[in-house]
Amino acid sequence: RFITLEGGEGAGKSTQIRLLADALRGIGIDVVTTREPGGSQGAEAVRNLLVNGDPGRWLPVSEALLLSAARHDHVARTIRPALEVGRWVLCDRFADSTMAYQGYGHGMDRGVLDRLRDIAIGDTVPDLTLILDIDPDQGLARAAARRGGEDRYERMQVDFHRRLRDGYRAIAAADPVRCAVIDASAGIDTIQGHIRATLALRLGV
Ligand code: C5P
Repeated sequence: RFITLEGGEGAGKSTQIRLLADALRGIGIDVVTTREPGGSQGAEAVRNLLVNGDPGRWLPVSEALLLSAARHDHVARTIRPALEVGRWVLCDRFADSTMAYQGYGHGMDRGVLDRLRDIAIGDTVPDLTLILDIDPDQGLARAAARRGGEDRYERMQVDFHRRLRDGYRAIAAADPVRCAVIDASAGIDTIQGHIRATLALRLGV
């Protein structure tokens, strides 16, 4: 099975993926956790180009192409080989991040992004996508607290994060069989409980 976690800043994806991996391992499932941007040697090299340096360094289209190249490598070298031997793959961000950030956030043409996604992932579509939904004010405050203070750059971007949230909700509404929206405003254990209930309902585990 292939499960992806999505959400904006401070939604708690990395904490929840760790707890979910532990829980699934506890019931005997062989789990691989991975992340985007990154998740393979080539894709981690692309991640360094994307996340280090000036946030305005890349134009949205250039960024989407780099993310897609990284994703293609990640799918081919990490995700597919694991799924083919029967392992479960939990991925922190996947193709919906590009649609949400570069499409809804930065206003890039969504038809172009659909085509880039198809080239990058082929038929490696997640069985379940958990969208951790949180109000951007709360999410950005959590992310700033984690870094030990105010993040003025991100606070200025609150409109961007509102578009991101709306984008994720639109993605979920358009594909309700694959996607589940999880309220990420609650505490860590409550959110994990909702995630486990969703897996029980959708995947029978
Ligand atoms: O998952 P994480 O929050 O660590 O994401 C790494 C960074 O990449 C974040 O700052 C996120 O905003 C950014 N990102 C992006 N476009 C994407 C995916 C991630 O700008 N498509």
